[in-house]
This record gives sequence, C-alpha cells and structure tokens, in this order.
Amino acid sequence: MTTTACARCSKQVPDAQLIPHRGKRICLECEMEIEETANMRKSVYRSIFSLPVAIIVGWLTICIPFANFVLFPLASIAQVVLAVQGIRLGMSINQAPEEFGVGTTEPILLIVFGAFTGLSGLAACGMSLLMLVGLLAAGFQ
Ligand SMILES: [Zn+2]
Repeated sequence: MTTTACARCSKQVPDAQLIPHRGKRICLECEMEIEETANMRKSVYRSIFSLPVAIIVGWLTICIPFANFVLFPLASIAQVVLAVQGIRLGMSINQAPEEFGVGTTEPILLIVFGAFTGLSGLAACGMSLLMLVGLLAAGFQ
C-alpha cells in the first residue's frame, strides 16, 4: 500500500484516504479541521452582522401600529441580549482569532458593534418603560 504525505499536516496516509482540497490532497483529519474552522468563521460573521440588523429592526418595530407596544419592548430586550452575546464572543475569540478562522479585526468589530447594540438596547428599554408608563397613565384618566 502506498502512502503519501498530507499536503497540510505532512502526515503519511494511505493514498485512498487523501481528499482533494483546492488542488492539494489532504488527510481526513485536516479536512474536518478546515470544515470546523469554516463553520466557526461563519458563526462569527453571522454574529457581527446580527448586531446592526438588531438595532435597525429593533427601532423599526416602533413604526408598526398597535403591535409596537409588544414588539418594541421585546426587540429592546433582544438587542441587549445580542449585545452581551456579541461582546462575550468577541472577548473569547480575541485570545486566539486564528482558531476561529478570523483575523484580529473581527473580535474588535464584535465588541464595538456589541457596545453600540447594548447602548441602543438600553435606550430602547428606557423608551419602552416610558411607553408603558404613558399607556398606564392614559388608562387611568
Ligand atoms: Zn493532514
């Protein structure tokens, strides 16, 4: 049985177990590692993009007639939760960004976007409270 060195980790593996990857032939372990890193990279990017989307969608819910009294407070809480998750993810990948398949910019983006989303969420929570107080006050008249 002939063995060939994996193009990535240079371990000797039987020819039949090598998998083509971008013009190189790599072993199954490397293939799995590459796939796992790609998945983590995707989830990091998903978190980065979810933060500005949460701010925009969150504030837009105030424009929906009637439903806004429920949706806006929920969206406010969602912003705070997403912000906390984003900042925590950013801090954890900041230690070893290469393990997540990202550079040094992505954790900073997560922390900065997370901070903005958190501020936006807290402001929206405050407005939600005012809205509820206003509703209650109007109800007692
Ligand atoms: Zn390998």
